[in-house]
Amino acid sequence: MKKSVLLIGIDGASWDLITPWILEDKLPTLKRLYEEGVCGNLKSTIPPESGSAWVSLATGKNPGKHGIYGFMTSGKLINATQVKTKRIWHKLTEHGKRSCIINIPVTYPVEEINGYMVSSFLTPADEKVYSYPPELMDSLKRNDYKIDVKYERYGFMPDQRDIIEKRGELKKQLYDIMEKRYLTVKEFMDEKWDLFMINFKECDEFQHLFWDEKETILEFFQKLDSYIDNLINKFKEKNPNAFVLIVSDHGFASSPNRVFNLRVWMQQKNILYDKRTMIQKIVPPVYRKLTKIPFFSFISKSNKFKETREKFHRDSIESTPVYYKESGIYLDKNVYSGEEYEKLRGRIISELKEVKDPSTGEYVFKILGKNENIYFGPYANYGPDIIALSKHNYAASFSYESNELFDDIHLNIPGRHFSEIYGIFIASGDDIKTGKFNGLSILDINPTICHILDIPLDKDCDGQVLRTIFKIESPYYSKETKYSEEIQEKQKIKDALQKIKL
Ligand SMILES: [Zn+2]
Repeated sequence: MKKSVLLIGIDGASWDLITPWILEDKLPTLKRLYEEGVCGNLKSTIPPESGSAWVSLATGKNPGKHGIYGFMTSGKLINATQVKTKRIWHKLTEHGKRSCIINIPVTYPVEEINGYMVSSFLTPADEKVYSYPPELMDSLKRNDYKIDVKYERYGFMPDQRDIIEKRGELKKQLYDIMEKRYLTVKEFMDEKWDLFMINFKECDEFQHLFWDEKETILEFFQKLDSYIDNLINKFKEKNPNAFVLIVSDHGFASSPNRVFNLRVWMQQKNILYDKRTMIQKIVPPVYRKLTKIPFFSFISKSNKFKETREKFHRDSIESTPVYYKESGIYLDKNVYSGEEYEKLRGRIISELKEVKDPSTGEYVFKILGKNENIYFGPYANYGPDIIALSKHNYAASFSYESNELFDDIHLNIPGRHFSEIYGIFIASGDDIKTGKFNGLSILDINPTICHILDIPLDKDCDGQVLRTIFKIESPYYSKETKYSEEIQEKQKIKDALQKIKL
């Protein structure tokens, strides 16, 4: 019998948060799925950011093969044209199967596929057409569909300065966005689909904003739990043999309250050789002082001030031969090569492993490793030379504005996920076993969907078919894994689209 897959993303959900609610019967749909099917931790990418994680989910490959590490590159937002390899909907299109892809990160600009696509966050706020086919915009408009919250923005990023005071308003918007998204996708389920993927990205935003109010998050998740029940029922009307997968792309934790300055540490260790210009040395402490002077604090709140301050910071760090940004440490290979490069990397990793906060006695870093131990593929060099992810209660910085090695920090957003690499996985369907599983990876989703839908896997796929989630007597347990020969990828998609149109 023809099978289909419904994948629902609860962005940023973790078992730590939801297991007690499931056990207390507070999330009845998730509880039913959890009891009827298989579940386990889903290991995310490093860094566990929505951009890289969702691209890995859709490709079955590590960032070294798809090229997406975060959601910014050289100060600009990433987009779908930078993803270097095919995603699951391209493969379905090649094989004449239909997919409906709604709100999956890094799908802007939308592409022509056999099915529907509505892009996700990172879509420019002024973009008028973010659906394929473009006519789908009519139903989106009719339903008052919105991709994400309208934040006051500082450049690309949401303005976090008075976000706590705005939480009431943002909460209303997030409920509204989730409801409109639910109603819209429900309409799309009037059709038959081979693959339907929908991500409730608003769960990520909601946890960032309300991590200090777990009951508020519970209420939001309860609303989503009832929507999920309705969506599964609706989807099964047209696709009675559907597999249901519930996933998240990473976990969540509280925001840091301490900051560790890697720049100060490297200077104390005589690792950093400062090549900055005189101006680059003078300006940062002045920026910091200005924000503290009453008259200038007004100016310092302007977007222009923040943008130039950030650009200055970027230019300064990139003019030094060793610097830290986002998820790791970068070494200038024109300065360090061969044995010297290896020696320095080894030294930084082993010494950072030992770094403890003197005020708490706690180690600062959770994940430290060489690039090649975590990334592999033609774009592995896009990632940092040393991956360095701090524990959730520590932020790592590379600031020239302060000379403190450790300092207290207060962020306006209560929740973060910069080293929370475990999301959730639930699978349910007639052929699925019951029970808990270990060792599941976000890289396994693409190959498992391909296996269910009878599509050959890419030869260089990093994930595995999750064969053990199927009942032993089901054909999916015993079915051989098929791999595709490398083909003229773009040409094949074009040919397939042509055929569908004829
Ligand atoms: Zn996310």
